Amino acid sequence: MRDGTIVVAGASLAGLRGAEALRTNGFSGRLILVGDEPHRPYDRPPLSKHVLTGEIPPGATTLPGVGTLRAEWRLGTPAAGLDRAGRALLLADGGRVPFDRLLIATGARARAWPAPEEARLSGVHTLRSRDDAAALAAGLAARPRRVLILGAGFIGCEVASSIRSLGLPVTVVDPAPAPLAQALGRVIGGFVAGRMVAAGVDLRLGMRVTRLEGDRAVRRARLEDGGTVEADLVVVALGAVRNTGWLAGAGLDADEGGLSCDGACRALDGEGHPVPDIFAAGDVARFPHPLLGNRPVALEHWGNAVAQAAHAARAMLDGPDSVGPYAEVPAFWSNQFGLTIKSLGLTEGADAVAIVQGSPRAGRFLAAYGRAGRTVAAVSVNAGRWLPAYEGPIRDGAPFPPITGGADQPRPESVPPGLPAPKVA
Ligand SMILES: Cc1cc2nc3c(=O)[nH]c(=O)nc-3n(C[C@H](O)[C@H](O)[C@H](O)COP(=O)(O)OP(=O)(O)OC[C@H]3O[C@@H](n4cnc5c(N)ncnc54)[C@H](O)[C@@H]3O)c2cc1C
Repeated sequence: MRDGTIVVAGASLAGLRGAEALRTNGFSGRLILVGDEPHRPYDRPPLSKHVLTGEIPPGATTLPGVGTLRAEWRLGTPAAGLDRAGRALLLADGGRVPFDRLLIATGARARAWPAPEEARLSGVHTLRSRDDAAALAAGLAARPRRVLILGAGFIGCEVASSIRSLGLPVTVVDPAPAPLAQALGRVIGGFVAGRMVAAGVDLRLGMRVTRLEGDRAVRRARLEDGGTVEADLVVVALGAVRNTGWLAGAGLDADEGGLSCDGACRALDGEGHPVPDIFAAGDVARFPHPLLGNRPVALEHWGNAVAQAAHAARAMLDGPDSVGPYAEVPAFWSNQFGLTIKSLGLTEGADAVAIVQGSPRAGRFLAAYGRAGRTVAAVSVNAGRWLPAYEGPIRDGAPFPPITGGADQPRPESVPPGLPAPKVA
């Protein structure tokens, strides 16, 4: 297919890069991008980093390539439904946008604090969008007495790092035994914890916030042990949920965990059959990953949004058989507390971790993760140039540890990584 109409729902990273790939691969028909945000596609990674520290204004995050894409933009208008039989996207403003093919790239949103009246207290923030970052930056500019961050995942830790660099007092509370425990496990998370504490973060691990209190504005958080944290700015960083609510009733296999699709990025219907004209990519897509024995997984990685959107675009134009199953080795990065953390592969279910290059004491190292004697992931900390060598071993499931006798690390020692129990054994 090279002409006709392709509609992209969700005008952010995956939507833009998918649209670009359609054009690059020869699509000459009508291309319409529908986005609920009023902004043209912008980059989210700087929002928790340089935007909060004031180095980049929120408006200076527009993605390169936006200006040159030959497309029609319908921004500020959410897709509210899908008429599959009539092949049309239904907009919240009553509009109807017919398509021959549809790419769903509606991503994810920040998980809200579960008590709505507490979440509405002024001073309580989440961080997903450019507008969220602008509101949070404005709150920080008012120099709160203490910032409380709920959640020590990547966003929570990056925000804590940015706020400490502004010289503001920060408390981070998380029920896990270490920051980043879900993704990296307790061993590597413990190293990051040391950096956080050294940077002046009041880190409360193994602890839950049960209630946010205040009169119109947040004043304190109550903890499960009965203690309190006095804070006049709270950042709720409890992970993300996929934007699939608008697909209710469309007969697709979609929920807050993602929209299921096959290896060619075709959306699956309620019976698990691929729908030929509807595709998904980016954070919203839940797809079978070969590294997990084809168990479905939804990623929240910038690089995945780009690569999967390009894969979907090729399948949309040339058919599912023209592309192999999508099998990119997942990769992400994070900057916090003077650390550049980069990851390849999937740590989920790993039963061993070994420092295979460098050392935590030196402040730069590479940790490899194994599962049942096979290499499944690698994480570099201030040692990114060592990481690419591990992509092949991860892709091939090479024996663990994959590389021995590496730089500064002659005798790698393997220990349990301290990851949460896998979802599927
Ligand atoms: C603060 C922050 C920092 C990050 N830092 C990193 C990092 O350092 N490294 C890394 O690898 N990844 C990072 N990420 C993750 C990365 O930004 C995401 O993986 C990426 O944005 C996913 O792109 P996407 O287009 O799939 O989804 P999104 O970026 O979520 O875009 C989806 C778009 O669809 C819109 N939408 C939703 N519902 C509808 C609807 N019904 N109709 C129309 N439009 C709709 C949304 O508003 C949004 O504009 C970060 C994310 C955040 C929020």
